[in-house]
Amino acid sequence: MPTVLVTGGAGFIGSHVARTYLSHGHRVVIADNLAGQRKDLIPKEAEFHQVDIRDAALNDLFAEVRPDIVNHHAAQISVPYSVREPLKDLSINVYGSANVLEAAARHHVKRFIFASTGGALYGEPQYHPCDEQHPIMPLSPYGVAKFCTEQYVRYYAQMRDMTSVVLRYANVYGPNQDPHGEAGVVAIFTQRMLEKEPSVIFGDGEQQRDFVYVGDVAQANVLALDLGDNGTYNIGTGAGHSVNELHRLLGQATAYQVPAEYEQARPGDVLRITLDSSKAARDLGWRPETSFQKGLELTVQSFADQRSSGDG
Ligand code: NAD
Repeated sequence: MPTVLVTGGAGFIGSHVARTYLSHGHRVVIADNLAGQRKDLIPKEAEFHQVDIRDAALNDLFAEVRPDIVNHHAAQISVPYSVREPLKDLSINVYGSANVLEAAARHHVKRFIFASTGGALYGEPQYHPCDEQHPIMPLSPYGVAKFCTEQYVRYYAQMRDMTSVVLRYANVYGPNQDPHGEAGVVAIFTQRMLEKEPSVIFGDGEQQRDFVYVGDVAQANVLALDLGDNGTYNIGTGAGHSVNELHRLLGQATAYQVPAEYEQARPGDVLRITLDSSKAARDLGWRPETSFQKGLELTVQSFADQRSSGDG
C-alpha cells in the first residue's frame, strides 16, 4: 500500500480524506501547522507532523517519510481574509504550495492531488452550471492564488515526472467543519441555531451556492489515487441552493426558526455558482451520493452530538 502525505490533514476536509484513506489500508502521514486549531480531528492511526508548508523543514519531512502520493489540502481558506490580507494569502496558498510541490519533486513523489476551488475560480459565471472550460476570472486573491497553484501543479507534473489531479470543489459542508471561521456557512448557521442565536446573512441571501457533502468529496479523493491522470475536475452537485433556503432548512432541522440578520454583501463573494461535474463522472466514476437534505441532517446530528458531549 502506498504512503500518502496529506497536508492540512488536521482540517475539516483533509481529516475526512485522511480517515477515508486509512479505511482503505493506506499509510497516512499528516503535515499541518495546526493553524486551524483542530488537533482533535487528526485520526489516531495517522502519523502526525506539525509543520508549516512554507518551512524549509518540509523537505526533511519528505526525506524521512518518503511519500508515494501527496494530497495537498493545507491552505488559508477564507475569501474575505484574502481580500483583507492578499499577501498573507499568497504566502500560504502559493508559496506554501510551491514549497510542497518542490519537496514532492525532489523526493520523487509519483502523484500529486490538489484541493482547488470551483466556487472562487470562475468569477460571476457566464453560464450555469460551470464546466472546467469556463473562463477563469477569480474575484478574490484566494481564487487567484488557487489558480496560480493549479499552474504550478501542471508545471511540476509536466516537467518533473509526476502525475497530478486537480479537484475543484464547490461549497463543501459536513461534520467537523469549523463553525467559528468566516468560511463554511452550513457550519456557522448550524452552530448558531443550536446555540439559539440568530445568524447573519451577507447580502440579500438570494446568492446561490452548490453544496457538496464532505463524504462525497473524500470519495473523489479516493478515486483520484488511481484515476484522472493530469486532469482537472469540478466536484459539485450541479444544483444551486440560496443562502436563504439553507437558513430555512437548517432552521427546520434544528427547530430554531428565528429570522436572520442581514448585513452588506462581502467583497469577493460571487452571486451564483454551480458546478458541472460530468467530467468527474466520466473519468473518475464520481457522483455526489448524498442528497442536500440528507447531508444537512447528518451535519446537524453531528454538531448536536458534539455539543451534548461537551466538545461543541
Ligand atoms: P480547514 O481550514 O479546515 O483546513 C485547512 C488546514 O490547513 C487546517 O488544518 C490548517 O491548520 C492547515 N494549514 C493552514 N495553513 C497552513 C500552513 N501554513 N502550513 C500547514 N498547514 C496549514 O479548511 P477546509 O475547508 O478543510 O479546506 C481544505 C482545502 O480545501 C483547502 O485547500 C481549501 O482551499 C480547499 N477548499 C475548501 C472548500 C470548502 O468549501 N471548505 C471549497 C473549495 C476548496
